[in-house]
Amino acid sequence: MPRDPSHKFRLPPLLLTSLLILILAAFIPSITPRLTLILSHLRSQSTTPKLAKMTSLYSRELEIAQLAVQRASILTKRVFHETSKGTVSKDDASPVTIGDFGAQALIISALKHNFPHDEIVAEEEATELRANPPLRDQIWELVRTTSLDDVAAEGLLGGGIKDADAMLDIIDQGNSKGGKVGRVWTIDPIDGTKGFLRGGQYAVCLALLEDGDVKVGAIGCPNLPVDDAAPLTADIGANATDDEGRGVLFSAVIGQGATSRPLKAGALAEGRSISMKPLTDMSNASFCESVEAGHSNQSESAQIAQKLGITKQSVRMDSQAKYGSIARGAGDIYLRLPTSKTYQEKIWDHAAGDLIVREAGGQVTDIKGNRLNFGVGRTLATNSGVIAAPKAVHSQVLSVVQEVLGVK
Ligand code: AMP
Ligand code: MG
Repeated sequence: MPRDPSHKFRLPPLLLTSLLILILAAFIPSITPRLTLILSHLRSQSTTPKLAKMTSLYSRELEIAQLAVQRASILTKRVFHETSKGTVSKDDASPVTIGDFGAQALIISALKHNFPHDEIVAEEEATELRANPPLRDQIWELVRTTSLDDVAAEGLLGGGIKDADAMLDIIDQGNSKGGKVGRVWTIDPIDGTKGFLRGGQYAVCLALLEDGDVKVGAIGCPNLPVDDAAPLTADIGANATDDEGRGVLFSAVIGQGATSRPLKAGALAEGRSISMKPLTDMSNASFCESVEAGHSNQSESAQIAQKLGITKQSVRMDSQAKYGSIARGAGDIYLRLPTSKTYQEKIWDHAAGDLIVREAGGQVTDIKGNRLNFGVGRTLATNSGVIAAPKAVHSQVLSVVQEVLGVK
């Protein structure tokens, strides 16, 4: 009988165990210091104010964007609760408050600390404040105290702004012309200032464009409920307090989905993935539009809704809260229909919302069916209006919009 070959070199179990012990004993002294080093490095990464090493694309930009929007939102909330909001009128007759300037200063300072070479397109500029020292000082007090209170984000967002004049220079760093080359951040420090003034919805909006394409978006909505499933009404959140779960932060990264999380002080709260509601029955759809009739044609939208078979009244709310609301499935469709042939939409009014809706399963185009083009400067000069809807019904909505508006 031939012998089983597997028996040939088998070592007795006792000898094998002793050999293993010998090998380990020889290696442990050199492994232990290395393990200690790795452990202490990991520990220092989580306790020092430096960002933890993260691997996913744009994770650093996302974290900074959300913290900056959160901090700026806290500043705006402080102004929101004041009776006098330090309102001044801009050249185009639109209002701006100390909240707008303060929020812009905080966001730009956080961006410049982390990404000093990036360009910034922001809505406001400081000329008016240079001629009005009392207003400047009022804003500076807000900015200074809000940063002081926000200890949790301090290491990540930078040491703060030196003084009131430095703050004005920072506000003016949002003067980039934009365009289709390189990294450009766009900021709307208070989108829907009119809603902010009347106690309704408003939003703090920030997005990163790379070669004209939106890569990261964050929108803080201090007056929307945290609950993604809360029914969408025009007065949503109006009677709730922060303690009852008011204030939400939406965000998205290209190719990584969209998220919502409670807007709070300090570190970011846990996020939840959000997605648009599958719209199976158009008669049940709810569509959002501007409160301001001058921003979107409300009689045409009523005709479009009727033709689509939508039975519910439109939900009118200010700001990019509309994009966030449809992205989390609280509403379904957002229509923004041009009220004039000459008005050009601003990139800061749409960049973050466009990405958040698309990452939640929606499609966003203008009334001609073209994607919004953020790479042509500070405005969406090549687009007209906005139609945002779930992917599956977007073409149906678009064709009715075009029929009613007579778009070829
Ligand atoms: P909403 O709250 O959605 O009505 O949008 C507010 C934004 O509308 C503001 O930030 C303005 O930049 C923008 N806006 C101002 N005038 C117009 C206009 N004629 N058409 C469309 N949007 C406008
Ligand atoms: Mg705006």
